[in-house]
Amino acid sequence: MIKKFLIMPKEEIFYRFKEEFKDGIYKKNYFYLQGRYIDVLFNAHVDTVKRDNQFNITQYGDFIYNRKGILGADDRAGIWIAYNLAKSGASILLTDYEETTKAGVNAFCRDFDDVNHKIFIGLDRRGFKEFVNYGYAAEEINGVFKKLGYKEKIGSYSDVLKLTERYSRLNVNLSVGFYNEHTKDEYLSLSSMHFTLNKCLKLLSYQIPDIKINDYLDFPFADDFPDFTEEDLFKYRQYLLNEEEYENYFRNADKKNK
Ligand SMILES: [Zn+2]
Repeated sequence: MIKKFLIMPKEEIFYRFKEEFKDGIYKKNYFYLQGRYIDVLFNAHVDTVKRDNQFNITQYGDFIYNRKGILGADDRAGIWIAYNLAKSGASILLTDYEETTKAGVNAFCRDFDDVNHKIFIGLDRRGFKEFVNYGYAAEEINGVFKKLGYKEKIGSYSDVLKLTERYSRLNVNLSVGFYNEHTKDEYLSLSSMHFTLNKCLKLLSYQIPDIKINDYLDFPFADDFPDFTEEDLFKYRQYLLNEEEYENYFRNADKKNK
């Protein structure tokens, strides 16, 4: 099944979801389904960095890769998880153009003034057992994911960040098992992908803390913040500094390097 999702054109993905989940709302750049469970809205994106490549998908133990180019598990692994969650009654949002113009999530944000979800979960992070929240964090929420076995990391962008900014609810982006995304060396760990599906299924019955970020804005500057690289810090700073400060930061970093 994941192989089918890897090679399908994105238009066909939208079509399949629309056919299978009749209550969903399909617009040109997104598909939105409010399921039986509404506390969590799961998000994945249908676009991949390159879709004109050929496919020769090969499995090696737990891993699959494409002998002929980019695999596209970023974010078709997320789409596969979203599909299985939707079958179990979860609420999902599939977006297009995450990798480029953000047209999908922007269209959704334009069409809906408010939503009933308490948290946005991105199924769009590399690796295994990691989560990020793009600068918006509350320990009540992070604690839930730590308990499920995830470690906190720093990330740069996913569509759930836009949802947080629009609807004032926290987000978490979870590892779905792809590695070396956007390159021909990309591969997908099937067990990592299944891990996140299973944890998300568990989450459906959890009581999610009801937190609006206006009430609780806690940037994770605590001493126990996980290890991060200079590059991570740099990306992270984009969200914290205003433009002028950001420019200065660049300039000082440049000077230091000379
Ligand atoms: Zn992605």
